[in-house]
Amino acid sequence: MKIIINGIHANLRFSSAHIIPSHDLCGSIHGHSYFVDVEIEGERSGKFEFVADFKDVKDSVRKICEKLDHKVLIPINNADMEFKGLNSSNKLILNDFKDAKYLNFAIQNKNYKLPIEDCVLLPLKHTSAEELSKYFTCKLFEDIQNKGYNIATIALGVNEGIGQGALFKKEF
Ligand SMILES: [Zn+2]
Repeated sequence: MKIIINGIHANLRFSSAHIIPSHDLCGSIHGHSYFVDVEIEGERSGKFEFVADFKDVKDSVRKICEKLDHKVLIPINNADMEFKGLNSSNKLILNDFKDAKYLNFAIQNKNYKLPIEDCVLLPLKHTSAEELSKYFTCKLFEDIQNKGYNIATIALGVNEGIGQGALFKKEF
C-alpha cells in the first residue's frame, strides 16, 4: 500500500537561495520556492492500519524544510567551491563553523562572504533538485523509521517551483 502527499496542497514548502557553481545560468545566486512531494510504500500496521500517519510524515518533511527555509544552501562537497579558512581537503566538519561569523568562499574569480547565520551547509556536491531529493529522502527515512514505521520505499520529489523537479526513489 502507498500513501501520497502533495507538497503544494499539504504546504511542504521552503524558499531558499542557491548556486550551481560553474553553470552558465545557475552559476549566479538565485532563489526558488521549492515544494516537496512524497510517496511512501510500506506495510499497513498499528491500531489504525496506516502505512504511516500523514501527520507524522508531514511533520518530518516540514522539519527538513524549516532547516533550509530562507537560507542560502551551500554544498560543501562541491569541487568548484574553494572555502577559505577551513581545512585543505575540503572535507569540512560542520562543527568547524560553529564560532565563525562569516562563510568565505570563491568560485573561479568570484569571491563570496556571507553571514554564517544566513547559510545552511549541506554535505552535498550540488544543491540541485536531484541532490536535494536524495538528501530529503535519507533524512525523512531516518525520522520516520524512528517513529516506528516499517517503510519499504520512499519516492520523494523536490520541485523548483511549479513545472520542474527531481524525483528520487529509494527502497529500504
Ligand atoms: Zn536554481
